[in-house]
Amino acid sequence: MGMESPIRYSIVVPFYNEQENIPDLYMKLTDVMDALGEPYEMVFVDDGSKDNSYKVLSEIYEHDHRVNVVRLRRNFGQTPALKAGFDFARGDIVISMDGDQQHDPAEIPRFLEKLEEGYDLVSGWRRSRNDPWLMRQVPSRIANWLMAKLSGIELHDFGTTFKAYRREILQEIQLYGELHRFIPALASSSGARITEVPISNPQRKSGRSNYGIGRSIRVFFDLIMVKFLLDYSTRPLQFFGMLGLAGTGSGFILGSILVAKKVFFNENIMTQHGPLLLLAIALFVSGIQFISMGLLGEISSRTYYESQNKAIYSLREVKSHRKEQGDSAESARPFGSTER
Ligand code: UDP
Ligand code: MG
Repeated sequence: MGMESPIRYSIVVPFYNEQENIPDLYMKLTDVMDALGEPYEMVFVDDGSKDNSYKVLSEIYEHDHRVNVVRLRRNFGQTPALKAGFDFARGDIVISMDGDQQHDPAEIPRFLEKLEEGYDLVSGWRRSRNDPWLMRQVPSRIANWLMAKLSGIELHDFGTTFKAYRREILQEIQLYGELHRFIPALASSSGARITEVPISNPQRKSGRSNYGIGRSIRVFFDLIMVKFLLDYSTRPLQFFGMLGLAGTGSGFILGSILVAKKVFFNENIMTQHGPLLLLAIALFVSGIQFISMGLLGEISSRTYYESQNKAIYSLREVKSHRKEQGDSAESARPFGSTER
């Protein structure tokens, strides 16, 4: 694909209120990346932090020309922040990680080794988890199991952002919601070779997690959507047909049982089983309708975003030492352009 970029590695890190973690992480990253001896850049995304994160990042930017700071206009969330970083990154290889020091830069070379072996995407695998058991580990276990089954990709851990990619892989993927964890599924549908490496999972150094059980629920909906997009977006009737069949099938069976009770045992269905029957039917039908509406909504939102090339984030400003020709927003929109 065209010329090799002069930058080999881009490290993308989203930050939301991580002022205490930034300097430490930056220093460790610098050590590790310098040791690799190839040109690299850091793309630090400030996701609308309310603490001094942006100030800390700006100070680092001032004295290191390899550091870029992308600041979002407000707090958009981890996935849009990552996407903003991915869009800005120019390295042949993109490495994403958390900014709260739950990911150890010293493990980056192991990701890169796998890429050298020919993989397109290397995902971290938290072998032993340090998160609260009931609220984080259990939902994550279930989600990982479901995702592996649904996507057919044999990864143990879909939930971590610690990953390395060839940049082409990322360019083809649209990200929404909590979708960053589905990059492997989406990438593999376009033929990417995927593998994983075990990583450590230390506690956050400071600050607190931005997420709790609520995210598991959002992840679950994204899971349904990704499954739908990958398998059924071109043949939705098969998907809805299956649901419809299951609904009408069980309704028919239940109805038959009730009829049999009426005919053979002369039970009065309306007085003895009526409310139960109505409740079951109502729940089932409305359940189907909710799922269908959610999926249709997702489809139309994709049409909306992709047809208009609408970004899922909005930039406040970009700081970069880059001096590339023909790559800036200005050159894309020549002077004298009549539109807008
Ligand atoms: N993050 C972000 N925007 C948000 C929430 C989190 O950019 O709205 C960043 C956060 O600063 C961290 C990473 O995403 O670098 C992971 O967040 P967190 O540690 O809260 O998630 P957890 O590790 O608990 O899954
Ligand atoms: Mg964390």
